[in-house]
Amino acid sequence: MDTEQFRKHGKEMVDYICDYLETIKQRRVTPTVSPGWLKNKIPLEAPVQPEPFEAIMEDFEQIIMPGVTHWQHPRFHAYFPSGNSFPSILADMLSDSIACIGFSWAASPSCTELETIVLDWLGKAIGLPNDFLTFSEETFNNIVVDSAKNKDGTNDIHNGKGGGVLQGSASECVFVCMLAARAQAIKRLRKLHPFIEEGVLLSKLMAYCSKESHSCVEKGAMMAFVKLRILEPDEYNSLRGATLREVMEQDEAMGLIPFFVSTTLGTTSCCSFDNIVEIGQVCQQFETVWLHVDAAYAGSAFICPEFRYLMNGVQYADSFNLNTNKWLLTNFDCSCLWVKDRLKLTCALVVDPLYLQHGYAGAVDYRHWGIPLSRRFRSLKLWFVLRTYGITGLQKYIRQHCQLAKRFERLVKSDCTYEILNDVKMGLVCFRLKNDPTNKLNKKLLETINESGKLHMVPALVHDKYVIRFCVVAEHATEDDIDCAWKIIKEAAQIVLDKEQE
Ligand code: PLP
Repeated sequence: MDTEQFRKHGKEMVDYICDYLETIKQRRVTPTVSPGWLKNKIPLEAPVQPEPFEAIMEDFEQIIMPGVTHWQHPRFHAYFPSGNSFPSILADMLSDSIACIGFSWAASPSCTELETIVLDWLGKAIGLPNDFLTFSEETFNNIVVDSAKNKDGTNDIHNGKGGGVLQGSASECVFVCMLAARAQAIKRLRKLHPFIEEGVLLSKLMAYCSKESHSCVEKGAMMAFVKLRILEPDEYNSLRGATLREVMEQDEAMGLIPFFVSTTLGTTSCCSFDNIVEIGQVCQQFETVWLHVDAAYAGSAFICPEFRYLMNGVQYADSFNLNTNKWLLTNFDCSCLWVKDRLKLTCALVVDPLYLQHGYAGAVDYRHWGIPLSRRFRSLKLWFVLRTYGITGLQKYIRQHCQLAKRFERLVKSDCTYEILNDVKMGLVCFRLKNDPTNKLNKKLLETINESGKLHMVPALVHDKYVIRFCVVAEHATEDDIDCAWKIIKEAAQIVLDKEQE
């Protein structure tokens, strides 16, 4: 494809995207295909001869689209939102065109520096304590600036100890923090017990999370080869300090070493909030326990000051993550991680072969902050989004979603056939038909709705009860969308209840 062809097809593609999003309502939310369907529709080998763009697009519409789940559909209420907006799409185009691989400052200075600055912007916008920022104003006047000299003779300009980085997913954020915590713990233990093998020390480490934490914590512990204790939250699905203290003390008494606690603000099943004030205070009593706060979904809401009370206690945390690619109109992937002490993170992840070194001492090299070497220019889309909407525009979007969730909650509550099982604080409502001890009716209800293709939701277990999760997802969701969803649910319930009585 040459430049002129790209110009032409690029414009056609923008038209295609606009038409797709404008007419998305006319499609089924979910496809009707079964596993393996695509194998019979496209050749099993790549074409030997080049094919025209038009033919590829034609096949895309005819063959691929029928198997697409439309996450941007106004009747898609499953999981959490998949962030999407025009400024973000455009910025990703730019990032794909520049196609730099920003593993170090020298590999593309703007790629690195914009990421640092935009994460400071967002960190401030959601009210994170200054310690998490790279250019902390509070420390700026007091700190002795790192004496490392850059090539041009200037000093390291990163005056705070903390900083932010973009990761590919919340799972990676949790995992790298667990690795950093593990490295810190092993370093401390090696000093105390220089003649004990590292493998033995590792076998003593214990991480903690709530039963409501995302499964990525369990997966992280599995990959980091550390033990994990999964704790019971209280009746509001919130992990409490006393529960944590009790097990940590028991573990210590048994010779185990608590080293990492992962908490959640906005759990996946029911958007509950761990009590990080209490948990933070407990962690402080134990030597070098790393406290992580996973706010993958709910973290974006802290851009509205009225929700920040839910992050009280974040001052105790060592690290904090949120996915702007969930609830801040930024396309996947754009998972933000902030740490209070960037050296503690990078200590666990630095390897430095000659071919990646450069002479700019003191510059941030993001390859040391995560697992991959290669990194895309991801901060561009966040920069475009923050500038296009402004903080006020993003606040309006979050508030609209929360108000719509409240509207849905009111509709459910107005019908005594149903019950709500979560405290609706953000965009997620967990509801179910009452009087269904075996969950049979609720499973049938969700199956009927999803099979209709008119609406899509997923289930969860809340207090061991099967619930249907209704999440407000579409950027421009309206009251009519919520009312329409409720109508579809009620119609499906009527079918299920009528059948039950037959
Ligand atoms: N943490 C929480 C609270 C989540 O809700 C999710 C996903 O929904 C994750 C972590 C995992 O996110 P990711 O897909 O970015 O790894």
